[in-house]
Amino acid sequence: MYPDLTPIRIGIGIDAHRFVAGRPLVLGGVTIPFDLGLEAHSDGDVLSHAVLDALLGAANAGDKGKLFPPTDPRFKDVRSTLLLHEAMREVIKLGYEVGNVDASVMCEEPRIGPFREEMCDAIATALGIDTSRVSVKGTTLEGMGFTGRKEGIAAIATVLLVKQQ
Ligand code: MG
Repeated sequence: MYPDLTPIRIGIGIDAHRFVAGRPLVLGGVTIPFDLGLEAHSDGDVLSHAVLDALLGAANAGDKGKLFPPTDPRFKDVRSTLLLHEAMREVIKLGYEVGNVDASVMCEEPRIGPFREEMCDAIATALGIDTSRVSVKGTTLEGMGFTGRKEGIAAIATVLLVKQQ
């Protein structure tokens, strides 16, 4: 990494996973009652994955596939908030703290609203920050595209990092 004179840095992350039967649905570290889960090597927590990519992107600390290879059996069914916690340790080592996180989950169902606060709490805990710094919203895409056809769930996130003095 080249010398960094920027006191604040922004990152963006996006992810999508396909619905599959026989797995729990985990979003933002919260297990949500639903008849389908998300296909993945990890727990399939698409929201945490988007936040993870945004966090690593903001820090220019590589991508999550390199840090947590899906071929590594250690990460089979791993709780993705645990990966967030691990990544945050790296970000702290680089001298940054999280200013805020904002994320949107795109799906027709389940409804995100009832679990919003719990998701914010779980993500904030994983990052070691106050819940007030984390925002999670849900949106449908009006029946369009793969989320509209209820094939899976997508998420997008931004993370702002602030250099520690
Ligand atoms: Mg993913």
